[in-house]
Amino acid sequence: MNYYNNDTIIYHNGKLVKAAEEKIDLYSQSLHYGLSVFEGVRSYKTASGETKIFKPVEHYERLKISAETVNLPYNYNTQALIDATYEVLKLNNLQDAYIRPVVYAPANMSFAPNTESYIFIQAWEMAPFLGEKLLRIMTSSFQRPNPKAFKMHAKVAGHYVNSILASQEAKAKGFDEALLLDINDNIAEGPGSNIFFEKDGVLHTPKPGYILSGITRATVFEICTKLNIPIVEGAYTIEQLKQADSVFFCGTAAEVIGWESIDDTIFPKPWKESLGAKIQEAYQNLVHEKN
Ligand code: PMP
Repeated sequence: MNYYNNDTIIYHNGKLVKAAEEKIDLYSQSLHYGLSVFEGVRSYKTASGETKIFKPVEHYERLKISAETVNLPYNYNTQALIDATYEVLKLNNLQDAYIRPVVYAPANMSFAPNTESYIFIQAWEMAPFLGEKLLRIMTSSFQRPNPKAFKMHAKVAGHYVNSILASQEAKAKGFDEALLLDINDNIAEGPGSNIFFEKDGVLHTPKPGYILSGITRATVFEICTKLNIPIVEGAYTIEQLKQADSVFFCGTAAEVIGWESIDDTIFPKPWKESLGAKIQEAYQNLVHEKN
């Protein structure tokens, strides 16, 4: 995948600069121990033709919370970062894009807290997801990390070693993606997305505590309020999930994407008739500012 070329511009510590010419410190605590925080944001070419970042305030506020949660100094202003992100999009001629802000640590081989941090914002083209193909999911042999060992509400780079292990395992076994359970063996989330399932006209999703409770997940709640779809948060076993009528993942990158199956179990409801399909359509309308 080509994330950048010699002309690509990024935002780095207050300046708009060429990605290919930037350096980061090889002695950064982030590189050695995985202590950096990041966001995954999307922009869309909306119905009016204008480029709009979806929920930028929510993403940059979460970046701040993530940084503060792991004691990375955070002296950035949300609106200034949003303005910088629009500059990056414009300078790179991007409309449908994935945006990756990262806050990282200085040179620090110790475990002592940092007195400063750095930030960059990258963006690359990402076509809007069409969601036609349903996912074949595998129950992962990897659990999500224990929330008493990690701060699971923060989007910390090191947490993603767990995501990568689970995703690679699923793909090596011929599946599209993994579903991870929590330390109590309840369903938790995908490597980079939250899960919802439909049962008898009601949507269910794991309650916060063992998951990264995503911005898309919150958007699904908003859509359900508008569409009068009943929605419940709880703790669910994999056996309960296998009794579902239909299932979907949601996340900024994944948007809303339906499942075909988990392990050997195929979900009975045709996707087009599912609550997930309605939410998928509403989500696409929302991000594209249609209707
Ligand atoms: N869970 C995990 C582990 C994730 O990495 C993501 C992606 N940020 C999500 C859920 C979905 O979060 P969001 O909707 O905010 O992108």
